[in-house]
Amino acid sequence: MSEAMILACPHCHRKNRLPAERLAAGPTCGACKQPLFSGLPVQVGQADFANHANGDLPVVIDFWAPWCGPCRQFAPVFEQAAAELEPRAQLLKINTEDQPELAARYAIRSIPTLMIVRRGQELARLAGALPPAQFRQWVDQHLP
Ligand SMILES: [Zn+2]
Repeated sequence: MSEAMILACPHCHRKNRLPAERLAAGPTCGACKQPLFSGLPVQVGQADFANHANGDLPVVIDFWAPWCGPCRQFAPVFEQAAAELEPRAQLLKINTEDQPELAARYAIRSIPTLMIVRRGQELARLAGALPPAQFRQWVDQHLP
C-alpha cells in the first residue's frame, strides 16, 4: 500500500486524495473530472488558497502584480517550469493586487516573491525573479 496524498484540483480547487503512485498517471479530479495536472500555473485567490497550501503536494507560489516589469519577465519562466515540475509540485500564482490579504499574511514586501509551501508550512522563500536554470535549481534544492 502506498501513501495517500491530498492535493487540490487546479480547476475547481476541491481536495482530492489519491495514492502517491497515481500522481504521474494523469489523475483526474473526483469532483469536476478535469486533469489534476494542467501543465500551467494555477491562479488562486483567498478562498481557494488553503486547499492548495495545506495539501501534501508542495506548491511553488509566484506572488506577482500586473504593473511589475520583472514579474512579467519572469512569467514565461514560471509557466514553462509548471509542466516540468508537475507532478512533483503544483505551481500557483497569486496576484497581490487582487489578493492583498494573502500578500499581508505572508508579509510580501517585494515582488516577485517566490515561495514553496507544503502542509501549510513555508519551506523556502526568495525575493526577486531568477533565470530559468537558477529558478529550477532553487526549486530542486527546496522540494522535499
Ligand atoms: Zn476539480
